[in-house]
Amino acid sequence: MFSNAEIGIDLGTANILVYTKSKGIVLNEPSVVAIDMDSKNVVAVGSEAKEMVGKTPQNIVPIRPLKDGVIADYDVTAQMLKEILKKVSKVAGLSMRKPTVVVCTPSGSTSVERRAIHNAVKSYGAKEVHLIEEPVAAAIGSDLPVDEPVANVIVDIGGGTSEVGIISFGGVVSCRSVRTGGDKMDDEIIQYIRKHYNILIGERTAENVKMEIGFALIDHDELSMDIRGRDMVTGLPRTITITSTEVQDAIRESLEAILETIRTTLENCPPELSGDIVDHGVTLTGGGALLKGMQKWLANEISVPVHIAPNPLESVAIGTGRALKMINKLQKAAK
Ligand code: ADP
Ligand code: MG
Repeated sequence: MFSNAEIGIDLGTANILVYTKSKGIVLNEPSVVAIDMDSKNVVAVGSEAKEMVGKTPQNIVPIRPLKDGVIADYDVTAQMLKEILKKVSKVAGLSMRKPTVVVCTPSGSTSVERRAIHNAVKSYGAKEVHLIEEPVAAAIGSDLPVDEPVANVIVDIGGGTSEVGIISFGGVVSCRSVRTGGDKMDDEIIQYIRKHYNILIGERTAENVKMEIGFALIDHDELSMDIRGRDMVTGLPRTITITSTEVQDAIRESLEAILETIRTTLENCPPELSGDIVDHGVTLTGGGALLKGMQKWLANEISVPVHIAPNPLESVAIGTGRALKMINKLQKAAK
């Protein structure tokens, strides 16, 4: 029998992932589009567009339409989604006729924004579109027993936002979101180097520094790295050596903001569920979970066990795909 394609989309602030039931993750690209400002056309999406950041002629502008976890530009987001769906149908060789699509939207998005995403996917020809809350998708994709009446705590540290959610019995008991994440850390690194060295570095260099020698607030054996930027006094390119201790100092503020959000969520947890948290702990996911020392630092700060999801960059997409099965099951049961 012909079965329609089923697609799960993680619309992240930094990365978009697409999951299909038959093939798993079929697309994983940065949430960036490059726009030609003269014609207003989309020139590139995903990795191709990210490559252009900071390097394009003036009329080509790379945009991250979901940067802060809200949809800054509906038209651009809709175009990006369509291009992504086009790529998926090429890459996966799927029958894209009337697929059923589940989209995980940034938490904190408004009902107007959610409707806009719904409509953009629908206008591409989806048969059905379901939206799912991000903490639920993240928890499902991190293999947490979300159906059981126990507190599952998920901490998702993304690019533009970080979310802390407590899920029990398939629903969100409480959830908090901060507009802090990997992007903010990159920015803090840029500011630090500007202030201490009078050197301007680009976003991509800052992100590399964070991934290579960034540490959460733990003691560690110091690492160092050479980076290039523009000397703000002479205007000429210059190379400097920066240490992991300096980077740690630079990103302290965003790390503390994330910690504060976790603390507040745990403190406001219903008392019956607090006991579960002491036993089961907290699960970290999202790209920020990969920062060196994150697990150790948080476990020490919040005094409950901290686990890292099996695949932090993919758990929301996987969870979105698995949610599809649950939605099917529910619909069958309703018939
Ligand atoms: P979103 O869901 O918002 O799209 P992701 O979960 O994809 O975000 O995470 C993207 C963020 O994770 C980026 O800021 C990226 O720099 C950061 N990141 C990815 N890998 C690492 C790493 N190894 N160490 C530190 N940060 C990382
Ligand atoms: Mg995410």
